[in-house]
Amino acid sequence: MEIISGKDLATELKCQMASQVATFKERFGRIPNLTVILAGDDPGSVSYVTGKAKASEEIGINNVTIRLSEDVTQAELLALIAKLNDDNNVDGILVQLPLPPHIDSDTVISSIEQSKDVDGFHPLNTAALWNRRPCILPCTPKGIIKLLKSKNIPIAGKKAVVIGRSAIVGLPVSKLLLDEHATVTIAHSRTENLAQVASEADILVVAIGKPKFVTPDMVKHGAVVIDVGVNRDPDTGKLCGDVDFEACAPLTSYITKVPGGVGPMTICCLLENTIACFLRKVSQP
Ligand code: NAP
Repeated sequence: MEIISGKDLATELKCQMASQVATFKERFGRIPNLTVILAGDDPGSVSYVTGKAKASEEIGINNVTIRLSEDVTQAELLALIAKLNDDNNVDGILVQLPLPPHIDSDTVISSIEQSKDVDGFHPLNTAALWNRRPCILPCTPKGIIKLLKSKNIPIAGKKAVVIGRSAIVGLPVSKLLLDEHATVTIAHSRTENLAQVASEADILVVAIGKPKFVTPDMVKHGAVVIDVGVNRDPDTGKLCGDVDFEACAPLTSYITKVPGGVGPMTICCLLENTIACFLRKVSQP
């Protein structure tokens, strides 16, 4: 069994990005700008936004975080995004989710200029992903594929089971695994015989948000297990994944841990997307 460290891989990739970004000022006259909008003060969201700002700073990207009050109106938010869309010095716009309940997230995400949608959640980017067109890939699924590739784990022809079918993780990671020629099963809360389905996976990706949900009976001997979940362990209060790591790890060939697995790769891919958006913009005539 080997732990795939997203933390180590992200550190390596961030070093490479920092060297690349260091050349930008001279080559293009400015550095990439990532603008993050946070509405409200949900502690989880505040911590994610702080992590994104810190990582941006580490690689020399300009990160601007705009904090709005919980009761910001949808019209105010849309007006702000329109202004950022028009701002030539803004390369990436990220609206931290979830938004307050009175705001329609789909409308807000759709209002972001597609070429600045560093999260890859805009419907045009989603459509492009499902039609195998060039697009900005959503960060967590992109990071998961990078984790698998970093260990040269074969994907083509393998049986991949993804538990969870959300628009931000389960569905897009299933599509990316399919594009890598895995045979993909998407499981969810209505799946019958879930343990049986999961235990047939060569690659098991779990994104459900239920602490230690995956137990050894759901894991095939030698499987690769990618744990996307970020939860609080109800017993210890510590961060934990959707997989019972201690119990399942001995069965696996490779496994990620929470924290230090998928999370750092999500941020890393956000930085990568921001640089890509910047380069596309500055290279336009
Ligand atoms: P979500 O939108 O709540 O979706 C959860 C999915 O899990 C749904 O498809 C749901 O099925 C399925 N599910 C729930 N209970 C289940 C059960 N008992 N058996 C089988 N399937 C079940 O969650 P999400 O946004 O995808 O996030 C999932 C987890 O990943 C969360 O812990 C989140 O914090 C974490 N996350 C981590 C990162 C990172 O960077 N590390 C990024 C994003 C999310 P139905 O569709 O049938 O309801």
